[in-house]
Formats: sequence, C-alpha cells, structure tokens
Amino acid sequence: MFDNLTGKLSGVIKTLRGETRLTESNIQKALREIRLALLEADVALPVIKDFIARVKEKAVGHEVMNSLTPGQALVGVVHQELISIMGREKSDINLSTVPPAVILMAGLQGAGKTTSSGKLAKWLMEQKKKKVLLVSCDIYRPAAIHQLELLAEQVNSDFFPVKPGQKPNEIATAALDYARRHHHDVMIVDTAGRLGIDDAMMQEISQLETLLQPIETLFVVDAMQGQDAVNTAKAFADALPLTGIILTKLDGDARGGAALSVQHITGKPIKFTGIAEKLTGLEAFHPDRMASRILGMGDVLGLIEEAQRSTDQREAEKLMKKMKSGKGFDLDDFKMQFQQMKKMGGITAMMDKLPAQLSQAAQNVKVDDKVISRTEGIINAMTRQERAKPEILKASRKRRIAAGSGVTVQEVNRLLSQFEQARKMMKMMNKGGMTKMMRGLKG
Ligand code: GDP
Repeated sequence: MFDNLTGKLSGVIKTLRGETRLTESNIQKALREIRLALLEADVALPVIKDFIARVKEKAVGHEVMNSLTPGQALVGVVHQELISIMGREKSDINLSTVPPAVILMAGLQGAGKTTSSGKLAKWLMEQKKKKVLLVSCDIYRPAAIHQLELLAEQVNSDFFPVKPGQKPNEIATAALDYARRHHHDVMIVDTAGRLGIDDAMMQEISQLETLLQPIETLFVVDAMQGQDAVNTAKAFADALPLTGIILTKLDGDARGGAALSVQHITGKPIKFTGIAEKLTGLEAFHPDRMASRILGMGDVLGLIEEAQRSTDQREAEKLMKKMKSGKGFDLDDFKMQFQQMKKMGGITAMMDKLPAQLSQAAQNVKVDDKVISRTEGIINAMTRQERAKPEILKASRKRRIAAGSGVTVQEVNRLLSQFEQARKMMKMMNKGGMTKMMRGLKG
C-alpha cells in the first residue's frame, strides 16, 4: 500500500532540482504534483485542500538549511503535515474507568469488527495484562456469534454465552452484570453491521451506547474502501459519540486515502490498524511512523533530522565557547538559551531532567513558557547593537522597545537585569564553578 503515493512524492523532489531556495513560484509546480498524488491515492478533497494550503504556508520562505536541497526541505514540510493530518499525537486506548471498561465496536458488515474484537482482546491481554470478556450482540447472523466464540477460544479470552432469543439490549445488560461478577477489566462488545448506512442499525447501536456507556466507541473501517470509508465514517461520527477508529486491511492494496482522511474528517484519532488477517495483525497507530512510511524516504528524512541536529549542536557549541570564556555573551545568546529551552519541551519538561538542587533553584526563578516568548519578543524589538551592548539603552529606547513588543518598561528592565545576572553568573562559572556544575548535570 501507499506505493504509488510514495513514488509520486519522490518525483516531487526532482522537480526542485537545481533550485537554491523555496519560492512561491517554484513550489507551485511541486504542490501541483503533490495534489495529484493525493487525488490518485483517493484522499478526500477537503483534506487535500487543507493539506496543500498548510504545506504552502509553511514552505514559502522556509529557510533551507545549508546541507539540504530545497526538494529535501519540502519533503521535511510535507512529512510534518502528513503527521499533522493523521493526528500528530499517538492516541492510546482509554481504559480509565471503574471496571469493566466497555469498548463498543461499530461499523459496516465486513469491515472487520469481529476479527478486530478478537485481535483487540489478545492485544489487551498481552500488552496491558487485562482480563477481557468478549460479547457479541449480532443476533442477526448466528454465525457471527459463533465466529466470536471461536476467536475467544483462539486468543484465550472469556466469552459471554448468549441465550437463544435474547435481544441486543438484553445481552448487553446481562453481559455487564456477568463481567462485574467475574471481575473482568475490559468488556469488548461486537455489534451487528449492515451493508450500508441504515437507520435501524444506527438506532440499535445508539441504544447500546446509551445503555453500556462505553469508555471507548471504536469505529471499525476498511481502508480498502477509500473515499467510501470516509463517508461511512462521517455518518457514524454524526450518529454516535465515537472515541476512535480502527482502520483495517492496511495490508491490502489500499491506496492510502482512508488513512490520510478519516481523522481529519471525523476529528477522531486512529487508535489501531489491522495489518493482517491473523490475530496478531493489530497495531497501535503511530502517525509519525505512518507518515515516514508514506514518504518512503527514510534516507531523506534521516538527513533532515541530522541537519536539524547538527545546526542545533553547532549553535550550542558556539554558546558553550562563549560561556566558557565569559566573553562576548550578549542578548542574542541569552535569547538562544531560551529558545533551546523551548526546543527541549519548555521549562516544565526540562525541570524533570535537572538534578534536584538545580531544579529547586530553577523553580525559584519562576520562568514559565509564556515568559520565554515574551522575552524573545523584547529582544527581537532591539537593534543588533543594542543586543550586543544593552548598556547603551536609554530610557526613550526602552519605552519604544516596550511598546514594540507589547510589554511594560518594567518588564524590559527586568529582562535586562536578568541578563546582567546571567552574565555575572557566567563569569563566576568561568572561575571554576563550571566543571562542578557540569558534573552535577551528569549525575
Ligand atoms: P465484520 O462483519 O465487520 O465483523 O467483519 P469480519 O471481522 O468478519 O471481517 C471480514 C473479513 O475481513 C474477514 O475475512 C477477515 O478475516 C478480514 N479481515 C479483517 N481485518 C483484516 C485485516 O486487517 N487484514 C486482512 N487482510 N483481512 C482482514
């Protein structure tokens, strides 16, 4: 799957050969190719439109790092946006409720609900060490109940025995009671599907949803359906409070459109993908890994990361040198320190990485992530000369800078005195404290 899309996207790099910068006109052609590639992959139109607009916005004027070609830089942007339309963050299954955590499976007939129920039971038992009960409410196809029973046997999970003549609501109520009495952590409820969207089916599953109050209502959808999958997903999302999606049959020759569209259209995250018929064929979904797979350019993506890393490292080394000598440390360096903090996930994330003593000291300084941005804003409003030698700043310039960056003069003064302190500290560290501090950081 994705082969075609991958091939087309690598062609895009070639169209930018020989260019030195990404400009509005040279990326226009590349964007047209990307658009075509997405259309052929059966990605939903509104998704394509949004995607292209976002890539364009990020790519025009994008600074191309020395070691990369504009084509590679564009791949970097496309990669980030692919991750973004597929959900950005990996979305975990939610089981945080009083047991049993009920997972309701919804979807059309043949989508892979029953198979995915069995796979999910196995996954939860193995990965999360849960005691799982499988329940079938599909009374219309007696074979469906038996199919789930066989799957339960194969994955070694418990199966709720349905009595002949029981209605879906009755099964659900009895199963819930059974799961409570037998201390199941999770109860997976398979439901009846129809060949198409159907009022009776929607009504039945809505009733089950109200009755069971599931912590997860997962929409199971066949990736091979392309655009149709997207329409069905929308209909289900409108009728049911879905919490996530299982995209099945990704191992088939699907063009990939569904994977790229469902999260964007429904606003619900893909939580799992079905990648084989066998019961081990279920994987937690990682948007970043999927985006890399779609681009199929492990080598280029590695290069982009490396370029990013080495730029960071070069800057950090330069700063380190200045800190060591205590000479030439100016407001631009001060700003870079803040930016590096931001890259490391902000102050809060950094705090956890610091040794206890330092962490305490940092807490006393009370800088939060908002302060970082304001600090940057103030420094940006200064001229080059002022950044290098802040002592030349007169009261009138401070007022201008404050107005230009939307803060008060007091804040500008506060920043300047913080900078002075940092510079002083640097000189102190230079007199022998540095090595001691670094030793502390390694601990
Ligand atoms: P249901 O009607 O939604 O319950 O669908 P089933 O679970 O019965 O699945 C329909 C068919 O799709 C079965 O033949 C499954 O083996 C197959 N199937 C389900 N998931 C996958 C998958 O991820 N990959 C492949 N290759 N086949 C799958």
